Amino acid sequence: MIRRIRISGLVALLLFVPGAQLLAQDSAHSTAINSGKPLSERIVSYVIDARVNAQSKALDATETLTYRNLTGSSQDTFPFHLYLNAFQPKSTFMTEVRRDYSSFEWQKKYLASAEIKKLEVVGIGDLTSRVKFIAPDDGNADDRTVFQVKLPRSVAPGESVQFRISFHDQFGEVFARTGYKRDFIMGAQWFPKIGVWWQGAWNCHQFHSTTEFFADFGTFDVRLTVPQNEVVGASGIEVGSVANADGTKTLSFHGEDIHDFAWTIEPQYKVFSETYNGSMGPVSVRLLIQPGHVHQAARHMTILKQALDHFDRWYGPYPYKQITLVDPPHGALQAGGMEYPTLFTADTAWWMPRGVHLLESVIEHEFGHQYWYGMVATNEFEDAWLDEGINSYTECKILDDVLGHDNSATLMWGMHESDDAQQRNYYRDSADKDPMARPGWAYMNGGSYGDITYGKTATVLLTLEKIIGETTLQRALRTYFIRYRFTHPTKEDFLKTLEEVSGQNLRWYFDQAVYGTAVLDYEIAQARSDRLDWYQERPAPAKKASTLYRTTVVVHRKGDFIFPVDVLIKFDNGENIRERWDGRDRWVRYTYDKKAELVSAEIDPESEVRLDRNYFNNSYVVEEDRRASHKITHYYMVLIQFLAQLAAWLT
Ligand SMILES: [Zn+2]
Repeated sequence: MIRRIRISGLVALLLFVPGAQLLAQDSAHSTAINSGKPLSERIVSYVIDARVNAQSKALDATETLTYRNLTGSSQDTFPFHLYLNAFQPKSTFMTEVRRDYSSFEWQKKYLASAEIKKLEVVGIGDLTSRVKFIAPDDGNADDRTVFQVKLPRSVAPGESVQFRISFHDQFGEVFARTGYKRDFIMGAQWFPKIGVWWQGAWNCHQFHSTTEFFADFGTFDVRLTVPQNEVVGASGIEVGSVANADGTKTLSFHGEDIHDFAWTIEPQYKVFSETYNGSMGPVSVRLLIQPGHVHQAARHMTILKQALDHFDRWYGPYPYKQITLVDPPHGALQAGGMEYPTLFTADTAWWMPRGVHLLESVIEHEFGHQYWYGMVATNEFEDAWLDEGINSYTECKILDDVLGHDNSATLMWGMHESDDAQQRNYYRDSADKDPMARPGWAYMNGGSYGDITYGKTATVLLTLEKIIGETTLQRALRTYFIRYRFTHPTKEDFLKTLEEVSGQNLRWYFDQAVYGTAVLDYEIAQARSDRLDWYQERPAPAKKASTLYRTTVVVHRKGDFIFPVDVLIKFDNGENIRERWDGRDRWVRYTYDKKAELVSAEIDPESEVRLDRNYFNNSYVVEEDRRASHKITHYYMVLIQFLAQLAAWLT
């Protein structure tokens, strides 16, 4: 998902787009299904038949889940997620929201639920009475987001077990990610989903306010029955549509090598479609956009195709036949900025100036999750930085390439900000609070989770470019993607790939940056030129190029993060000296005796060490500090964002 500053979802900036060109409206879309051999080890196969009540925002469904026991041992106990139960006042999710945002008030309209009506196991019988809620993370007896069922006999290794589940969903007004708003329904996290057998145990965490995803790959065949006037978007591809006599229609979708399934309905959606020709063939690009945002359709399509193209060239192919982009309506931005396999939600408003690149950054980011989450399916509960953080890094790189580095976040009213500067600002807010390698729910709070998981990870990878080089890092990410797509790699798989491709031992860096909370901060503690004849009672008048000076520069490592830095020292005779300090001691002193005076001393003159928390103490300049203008720009951007939030509340 996108990094939210506040729980109410509002990074929604102001919007207005003059004269955006319209795209051809969709009349028919592809009905070809994926073909060829499986891309993943298909552990699960879901067949779901759901009838949606668009009036009551509810559905009744039957689910047949075939689970292949590839755990290597006999299993008799199986855990499932029931995510919708998070939207209840005593759930762990809501408890965490209230803990982090004391002004949050519960409202009945948020109430949602998923209820198991019946659970059978084929060949064994009705086990509904054995359904038992568990709370593996915090023991909260009021949390009903995970249940398990114990079978009377175990399932042998290699054997398949088939669950038949009838369930009833009641959606709430969208509060986070899933739910309804007026005629709009975002059907995400809506069906009982089995946990993952991973590292010798079941991995099935409760739904936390910050984390939600980890599931096995497989196939999804989903039939949705909805009123005939609904426009429908869903994961996978549509393979059938039948009009029913009762005014409903039943649409069938098929998805392969994916690990989740989401859908949306709304009668008002305008549909646009184009084709992107990638290295694995044509991809149908489908946009479901609000009528009031149609003037931004071209912007949506352009950035999505640019993202497809960059990922294809830089990291690897997009193998699915379709990608669906959903634009939630006004008032439902909390459903925006979310990723699901082959479908994701954007985040815009009717007024979105060209220079506010929020629209582009959200679409690029959520598309990026098709790779870092969708295909490279890391454990988002336990190591969210592996998807959110790597994705924030690739977001910086792609937006830089598409929009220009300095303008990749905003270019407006003569002011601009880059995406990586934004990521660094997040990191600076929480630099020492939590390590990246920590389960999402174990962070100090949602703010630290966001700052570290997104901002710090992106900043750590941007700083890694200084050590191994930008192109090597891109090659390493490509290797990581190609090697681990359609599997569940660990953080060590990622870190070892970086070491392998770069040919460097990077433990010294990972221990501090990934596993630790050390803060990187270097400062110029002293910088001065002093006449060597300072002790003379009546020194001769200073004369350029002939008076001897002793220049001393002291660089101080203020933080506990050890990192080699360059120091650039300039003299008034035009001479520049570049020193490299390994940073191991707490400080270093450089001394020069020259017929010249110091002009400036600067640590990391190219600003490559993005992890340096404070740039303002990095330089001593006889004249003005050129970085001061950066600071003013930052304050200005904060002001713009504040005004934008105000505008979003008022509209
Ligand atoms: Zn994300």
